[in-house]
Amino acid sequence: MKKVLMYSGGWDSYCASFIHPDAKKLYINFHTPYSEIEMKNLPADVEIQDVDLQRYALADGYHIPQRNAIMALIAAASVMPDAERDLDPEIEVYICGVKEDATAPDKSPYYFSCLSLLASMFGTNGNRFNVNVKGFFDYDKITMWEMAGKPDMRNIISCYKGENCGKCLACKRRLLYLDHIYPGEYDIDSKAIIRELEENDWIVNERILARERQNV
Ligand SMILES: [Zn+2]
Repeated sequence: MKKVLMYSGGWDSYCASFIHPDAKKLYINFHTPYSEIEMKNLPADVEIQDVDLQRYALADGYHIPQRNAIMALIAAASVMPDAERDLDPEIEVYICGVKEDATAPDKSPYYFSCLSLLASMFGTNGNRFNVNVKGFFDYDKITMWEMAGKPDMRNIISCYKGENCGKCLACKRRLLYLDHIYPGEYDIDSKAIIRELEENDWIVNERILARERQNV
């Protein structure tokens, strides 16, 4: 079986790289405003594929339409030559959707199963590849970290500006999680962050909410 992990260096894919250490790491450079910064922090064993789609970005400048579908199809294609050579049609593509992401229509178990079907319709000479696009929707970010063997998460970059500014929502969520797994190390107002995340329709981790309730 060939495995490919879509790797950005953020919380989820960093944990997933420990859960699937035998997966090839792939980063697709869509030329978004944060691509350059993300690429600067990628480890050397990440394969980078250039796909300039910034011209198709939506008005916010960040969202590339069909991004996850394009990623899944390129990831599957990237290991098909090896799969063909080894006469092993089984391919698994990991895109880091976790429990907290399940509200996005294009990051859901159903969407990923559609992508699996689509990617598996390719083949030559009557041979088909069997592609399985998988997320981690059964697990939240803290469970991912535990399954990874609790690696050090303090230096993970997760920020809309790519510099851990501490002010954007991605940064605030990262700090909330860090505060949960390393209690007492971070000086944050967790209640205010939870409120802000919920106001923006972000799913807040159930385990963090449970601890917060106990602390009331
Ligand atoms: Zn930030």
